[in-house]
Amino acid sequence: MQYISTRDETQKLTLSEAIARGIAPDGGLYVPERFPRFLNSNFEGESEIAGIGPLLLAPFAEDDSLADELSVICREAFDFPVPLLPLEGAPAPASVLELFHGPTCAFKDIGARFLAACLQRIRKEAPRKLTILVATSGDTGGAVAAAFHDRPWVDVVVLYPKGLVSERQAQQLACWGGNVRTFAVHGTFDDCQRMVKEAFQDPSLAQTHQLSSANSINIGRLLPQMTYYAKAGLEVWRQTGQRANFIIPTGNLGNALACLWARHVGLPIGEIVLATNANQTITEYLHSGEWQPRASVPTLASAMDVGNPSNMERLRHLHADFETLQGQVSAFSVDDTEIRSTIRRDAHELNQLWCPHSATAAEVFRRLISRGARGHWVIVATAHPAKFNDIVEPHAGREVPVPSSLARLLALPRQEMELQPTLQALRTQMQQV
Ligand SMILES: *Cc1c(COP(=O)(O)O)cnc(C)c1O
Repeated sequence: MQYISTRDETQKLTLSEAIARGIAPDGGLYVPERFPRFLNSNFEGESEIAGIGPLLLAPFAEDDSLADELSVICREAFDFPVPLLPLEGAPAPASVLELFHGPTCAFKDIGARFLAACLQRIRKEAPRKLTILVATSGDTGGAVAAAFHDRPWVDVVVLYPKGLVSERQAQQLACWGGNVRTFAVHGTFDDCQRMVKEAFQDPSLAQTHQLSSANSINIGRLLPQMTYYAKAGLEVWRQTGQRANFIIPTGNLGNALACLWARHVGLPIGEIVLATNANQTITEYLHSGEWQPRASVPTLASAMDVGNPSNMERLRHLHADFETLQGQVSAFSVDDTEIRSTIRRDAHELNQLWCPHSATAAEVFRRLISRGARGHWVIVATAHPAKFNDIVEPHAGREVPVPSSLARLLALPRQEMELQPTLQALRTQMQQV
């Protein structure tokens, strides 16, 4: 399998090369040159992502040195459960896909751990140390830091928007030390993302650092995310004979794109519905066909505060024709008032606790059902509510129990520096050491 840039189909790379580079030199994103096709029977006997992963990802790694290692990589990276649980008492058949049982309690652990396991093998004989530069709206940075912490062949630089992430997220970003440096940037997530993009194009940094990205723009994070959609889709299919419909809390569009790819390769997935917060770039685009990135606005679902979702470029590459694209996916925006009322209502009526991000999907589920939607719905829960206790607890009316992995990180000392939102400030810091 070869990988091409969304902006240039002539330069072809292997999977390892695409993972190592992160973003294409032309500013485009890497995508597989073509997609394999699967039947449900290809996954017979497999029900967990560690077992589904090597089968699903094999064609994506064909002719690459990672192909022989996929089983080991998946076992190493996917060493926690990804349960699909029934949503008892819901107004229609529904399940919750809990993606938050990894080390930092958000779905990004899955992609970050897979990426780290791949890079560990790709970089085995590399002469230079790698520097992973990551912009985070809250959860990516923690997941990447956790996945790469203490690996001697790599340094990690994390940029996050100061004051725009939850207290516990901030702690998870800054508790590492060692090979991880954390910067609280005076700006928004879009500023952080722009600084990362500029750093990649900076000739001076190219001389001093071997840079790689670990954002959801890295293909090594996207591909593994297909595995949990495969798992959930197959599970619903085996139990009900129906294709599961998915509602996905969406920001930078990485998680949802993985679901679209999973359906594209033939997995039993029906409708795909995106739940966004008050940031309306995606909903407006799907409505009007006009792509108008804008500044992000801060919301309670802060990991989804994205005004210019990078992965839209991959989605538009998958379906170049707008009308086709419009038929593949729909999106609904959920504001902070609705996030609060959803957390409150479902805590009381269903005994179900949502993080603010997952609450957007839960709200969209109710909207769809009230409009007469049918079928089996899977609400994708992207983070543990305990990460956002300050938002969740007042509305749920009770304490959220803290999982032990989170409790351990909360007890560590915090190590971070503040940074102005410019390339120059970042370059100065990075070149000082
Ligand atoms: C990152 C994140 C999202 C958004 O995912 P994208 O892949 O950026 O669309 C949603 N919820 C949580 C908890 C996240 O951390």
